[in-house]
Amino acid sequence: MSDRDIKKATTQVNQNEGLIMEKSSPGKKGYKLPPLDVPAVNISKMLGDLERRDDIAAELPEVSEIEIIRHFTRISTWNYAVDYGMYPLGSCTMKYNARINEVVARLDGLAGAHPYQPEKLSQGAMKILQLLSECLIEITGMDAITLQPAAGAHGELTGVLLVRAYLESQGNPRKKILIPDSAHGTNPATAAIAGYAVENLKSNQKGMIDLNALEKQVTEDIAALMLTNPSTIGVYESDIHHIAGILHRKGALLYMDGANMNALCGKTQPGKNGVDVMHLNLHKTFSTPHGGGGPGSGPVACKKILEPFLPTPVVIEKSDGTLGFDYNRPKSIGRVRAFYGNFGMHVRALAYILANGPDGLRQTTEDAVLNANYIRKKLEGIYELPYKTQTLHEVVFNDRIQQRKGVKTGDIAKRLIDYGFHSYTVSFPLIVPGALMIEPTESESKEELDLFIDAMKAIAKEAEDEPDTVLNAPHTTRISRLDEVRAARQPILRWKKQAKYAAE
Ligand SMILES: *Cc1c(COP(=O)(O)O)cnc(C)c1O
Repeated sequence: MSDRDIKKATTQVNQNEGLIMEKSSPGKKGYKLPPLDVPAVNISKMLGDLERRDDIAAELPEVSEIEIIRHFTRISTWNYAVDYGMYPLGSCTMKYNARINEVVARLDGLAGAHPYQPEKLSQGAMKILQLLSECLIEITGMDAITLQPAAGAHGELTGVLLVRAYLESQGNPRKKILIPDSAHGTNPATAAIAGYAVENLKSNQKGMIDLNALEKQVTEDIAALMLTNPSTIGVYESDIHHIAGILHRKGALLYMDGANMNALCGKTQPGKNGVDVMHLNLHKTFSTPHGGGGPGSGPVACKKILEPFLPTPVVIEKSDGTLGFDYNRPKSIGRVRAFYGNFGMHVRALAYILANGPDGLRQTTEDAVLNANYIRKKLEGIYELPYKTQTLHEVVFNDRIQQRKGVKTGDIAKRLIDYGFHSYTVSFPLIVPGALMIEPTESESKEELDLFIDAMKAIAKEAEDEPDTVLNAPHTTRISRLDEVRAARQPILRWKKQAKYAAE
């Protein structure tokens, strides 16, 4: 058997065994209970209306233990994960999540803590909230923080609501928020949900804020500028002091989208550069699990002027030296999340920060920047680099060279799957048509980066010599290229009994 035959056979096995529903037969069981040693009760009578309806129960598969184990083990191998290989998804900072974080987050006293536990029994958990707050305040150079928001976008909304509350307290919430054209889509969405009109700010040829344009656009109507730094093309806004000055002179505030803090941690503190309020993504920079819709965390750090408006409750030190929650904050924007935010993520982020220490965090930043620039250097010329400005933790190419043979960024991304990598980010940011946005993070070794670079070079060569190979990729996955329009318009999201089986 050739390698190809073996692959085909394996794929067939995978496909044949794909649907657990089709292995089901009545009476098969995956468990065995000991004989009853208490009096039997009539469950149906006890449950009444709450009993599971027979018509639904009849649809559930009945399989043996080995069948269900194989089912879940098999489908787990159809997925891609950071624990499986490089995940160069730009903007997302898909770094390795250290196992020590998981060990700490699973400690009984933390994982089992109840949010309604009295304060005197929650001192340890509160100490974690306080310590993480202190670390993040130090890292960002800000004055105060809330850990409540559950994601970056949620942090943005919290931050902009702080801006609104502050400006309102000054007499006028103002009308508009300025957002550069390179911004993440959540920025304009946030501004709109917080009741502001969005005004677009064009980037200059270096992909940075145009100071002259900014000076003209900042009027008494502008509440804030939402600035991503470094930007989504990985460029550091070296004029950030100037930018802050222009805003502050007109009474507007500077919001920093801190999702890219992986490029700054331990190197510079946004709070020292004129930023008034910012969010962090613990699930990006601070190595808490990311993706799959799992819990995230988007703390918001701010300057003194915004502190009175922070969500309640806030951890405080009481006169007897113990910690307590302060709910009595009349200017607060209120709660943005149940209890104290996603506590498990706070534990993991603190474990990560303490395990690294200040020098480790700085090293992390330097390695992330080095890795991105290594890829940039090796692939420049093979893929076109639209912005030549020095970049930090990520690099954005475009597909102009490959487009001559009809190959686009999405095709290259799909071919990359055949080479064993997760795709980079396609078609973002919007200021780069046909973008290939690559962020290796600090987690990858030189050996892994070299494999990725080799794959990207091989695909560029294929795009030139045999474009169909790229255009029809992926070839090695269970399901090859999907009809993306149909997948979006007519998604099939659950298994349904097909006529063939229904008839049996
Ligand atoms: C990821 C990201 C966000 C949004 O964060 P979520 O946690 O996904 O809501 C916002 N801005 C930038 C620049 C990002 O990279």
